[in-house]
Amino acid sequence: MSASGVHLFDRVSGMNVLLDEVPVPAEQFSRAPRYLSVALTNACELHCPYCYAPKHAAALDTERVLAWAVELDAAGCLGVGFGGGEPTAYRRFAQLCSDIAQSTSMAVTFTTHGHRLTPELVESLHGAVHFVRLSVDGVGATYERLRGRPFAAVVQAARLLGPLAPFGINAVINADTVGELDDLAEFADKAGASELLLLPEQPTAAAPGISDADSQRLVEWAATARTGVRLAISRTSLEAALPTTETVPGEHPLDAHMHLDATGVLRPHAYAPTGLSVGGSIMEVVQALREAP
Ligand code: SF4
Repeated sequence: MSASGVHLFDRVSGMNVLLDEVPVPAEQFSRAPRYLSVALTNACELHCPYCYAPKHAAALDTERVLAWAVELDAAGCLGVGFGGGEPTAYRRFAQLCSDIAQSTSMAVTFTTHGHRLTPELVESLHGAVHFVRLSVDGVGATYERLRGRPFAAVVQAARLLGPLAPFGINAVINADTVGELDDLAEFADKAGASELLLLPEQPTAAAPGISDADSQRLVEWAATARTGVRLAISRTSLEAALPTTETVPGEHPLDAHMHLDATGVLRPHAYAPTGLSVGGSIMEVVQALREAP
């Protein structure tokens, strides 16, 4: 419930319906963000050069995450998305997903490099996750150079995900991958993915981010691409140059999304330099973040 109307969401089908003709009194607005991304752990065995995840050891407590999820659900949040680091490296990952799926009506999703997926882990996640994002930056030799793992292994990961839940492909776009967008779209389509999410590389202390020239190539490709898979793009300002759909028109960024890092600090988004530490109630900190100058 928000100034935009009443938003209905079904986590199994993934269908969203916005009843924007229904006026909602301000006192009934949902207080939680629509979606919370959660870095369960900073741990990850890969060494992608453009990784933005902090490298100090940190992980969230399972019981606290479950309690926060229940609190968020009651305040109108529609989904939690686990990342990291690598969320499948988190101890009791499958149990946490299952507990949240059973204790809330929220969608449970996660983003993974895929190299820890086994038939046993996928089996234990059945019924506990509603969407998965598989990170695939480039194809073939480009993928292997950037991620340091065999491309065949991520192809196998996509095969394992197929029967588990709808999944999308996440691709960091930079000088190495911008020339492989057709191949990436073809890979996503053939693997049965429902979406190809384009992530223009963001600057970090170690990487410069996508150049202006490569940004332009990305925009030109996305504007004219004919793919069998739905395209999406992260919010970086490039989307303004593309015919993108606003999920909820006019939505305030903090109504749309917040990010909880692996030390328990709530931030406006994953790249935000500051945030507020969550002690007991996460909704108290959500409110404090909204009121922060
Ligand atoms: S797989 Fe993700 S978390 Fe791991 S190093 Fe690469 S970008 Fe970072």
